[in-house]
Amino acid sequence: MNRPYRLVLPSKGRLHQPALELARDAGIDVGGSGRALAAHCSRWDIEVLFARSADIPVWLADGAVDAAIAGRNDLVEHGSRAREVAALGFGRCALRMAVPAEAPIDRIEQLDGRRVATSYPRTTGAHLAAAGVQAEITTLGGSVELAPRLQAADAVCDLVSTGDTLRANGLRAIDTVLESEAVLAARDTAVRGHDRLTDELATVMASVVAARDRRYLMLNAPDDALDRIVELLPGMDSPTVLPLAHGGMHAVHAVVSQDEVVGLLAPLRAAGARSLLVLPIHNLIP
Ligand code: AMP
Repeated sequence: MNRPYRLVLPSKGRLHQPALELARDAGIDVGGSGRALAAHCSRWDIEVLFARSADIPVWLADGAVDAAIAGRNDLVEHGSRAREVAALGFGRCALRMAVPAEAPIDRIEQLDGRRVATSYPRTTGAHLAAAGVQAEITTLGGSVELAPRLQAADAVCDLVSTGDTLRANGLRAIDTVLESEAVLAARDTAVRGHDRLTDELATVMASVVAARDRRYLMLNAPDDALDRIVELLPGMDSPTVLPLAHGGMHAVHAVVSQDEVVGLLAPLRAAGARSLLVLPIHNLIP
């Protein structure tokens, strides 16, 4: 190996805190506040660096770093050839085409010959071109949603998560250009020996993400109630059923979604379940 494996995380902005938390949950101890420009991870032989979200694709494409946590939208906009190795479940948003609510426009084909304002000119241009639409693209660094009100554009192509900003600016989405979330991405040609570390990182991070919205449910079931109780459980696979040391009872274990677990407790109890325990899961590999 000619140089240490380098992982870059967003230094600020929306993805900073969740990326740092995920790295920590995955066993990458970046120490301190996560504010230093570089840190060496004690458990893995990894150098962790921090950079602005929009710069991360450049670092990956240059091969200056081996892997990164970045928004898919930034990778696509950069035209990066980096490989997406795990979707991370946070920073979800979508790049949407939107027009003033009262505009008589419902399809992007109707944007032919019109002006579109965006901070994502490359992604927007490719999407319009694929639909055979010729539009004039104005690139703005921010506050894209103001452009139609200022008669500077007929439409915008902007990142949306809740849709509140669009609505507050009197805009209506007519098309989704890209669904995005934070991803673990790796440079497309790995430094020799670094592939294995990328695979390990992807597996561990994906296992942390998969575990976050699941719970481990344990309970004891009297034998005469066992069938009814097992039927109530959704579970990943079929639940585990184990005889207890003293006869007449079985232990039942199942992995259930966080959303479902609260609604299950009362019906399980009514069906005869006892000693119910709900535990967090740290890692889950299906
Ligand atoms: P930052 O500009 O550094 O706060 O981070 C921007 C990144 O956060 C974007 O590139 C997206 O990947 C992600 N993101 C998630 N939701 C939104 C949103 N509603 N607006 C902008 N960026 C978002």
